[in-house]
Amino acid sequence: MNENILNKIFDEINNSKKILIVSHVNPDGDTLGTMCALKLYLKDKADTLVQTSASVGIPDTYKFLPQIALSRNLDNVQNVYDLVITVDVASIDRITGNARNIFDNVKMTINIDHHKTNNGYAKLNWVVGNASSAGEVLYDIFKSKNILVSKEMADCLYVSILTDTGGFRYENTSSKTLKIASELIELGANNADLAKKCYNNKPKNMILFQSAVISKTKFLFNNKVAIAAISQEDYKKFDAKNEYTEGIAETLRTIKSVEISAVLKENDNGHTKVSLRSDNVDVCEVVKKFNGGGHIHAAGCTIKASINQAAELLVCEIEKCLNL
Ligand code: AMP
Ligand code: MN
Ligand code: MN
Repeated sequence: MNENILNKIFDEINNSKKILIVSHVNPDGDTLGTMCALKLYLKDKADTLVQTSASVGIPDTYKFLPQIALSRNLDNVQNVYDLVITVDVASIDRITGNARNIFDNVKMTINIDHHKTNNGYAKLNWVVGNASSAGEVLYDIFKSKNILVSKEMADCLYVSILTDTGGFRYENTSSKTLKIASELIELGANNADLAKKCYNNKPKNMILFQSAVISKTKFLFNNKVAIAAISQEDYKKFDAKNEYTEGIAETLRTIKSVEISAVLKENDNGHTKVSLRSDNVDVCEVVKKFNGGGHIHAAGCTIKASINQAAELLVCEIEKCLNL
């Protein structure tokens, strides 16, 4: 740890009157858990922003996180801040709309993250590329500053780590990750209950929607590549929320022959959001051409093209990385 930068970060936090903590777009358990843990530490000094519109709202799965209900959304946030802290936000284009305006104009910005592709877009950057999750990064910060982690904070950080490691299955799960998880349980995190809330809490229509999407999957390159496409029409048919797509790419990757799974989602502006998962191939390489990023086995990007065109462009890049 570079103590100097960490001290600067805490100087800025201490000198600020009003702080905004920002999650990434399409928020997941890591960005929301880290955001809530930091809010619990900073209390009234900080507001939180979940980067969704008011109509989309906070993902149902994570509504149980302490204090998340106090969060602002992109429609009701105003620039009254002197410091913005982003958590688990891999790149500047994962900050959109009003949040981006505030980020670009605020006096000080801090970026707390664990994506190796993070280019340090803030004024102060604390990016730990080998950490499992932003939650792990924040826990280390709390520990090195002797900050007391309450039961509620432990719950939030545990959710971050649990969800970003796929329930401690991915190779970002280090022995240190498991030690931290163990310490969080000692601090009061209720591991079994949190796992149930994160994984066994799905609406019926989510599973029906996912099975319809999965049944249309196209398999290419001798079943090494699985591509599922989701149109706006598909969402309508099942009254599906954006978060209903969570886990589809992971499910397709569980097929023995599949090396890369891709989920393409038609945005309401006609562009295509891509999620990639892999067993061995570095999918960060695949999304580079589209200015995406992420991790070796989980990466994403947005392609400014229709879903069919995006699929074609993507397959070209996948083919280059597959070593056929
Ligand atoms: P997703 O498929 O959206 O769950 O994202 C997989 C991983 O890639 C996560 O770690 C994301 O933070 C990252 N990621 C997704 N989209 C982008 C993007 N447009 N730019 C940079 N990183 C991304
Ligand atoms: Mn994330
Ligand atoms: Mn993360």
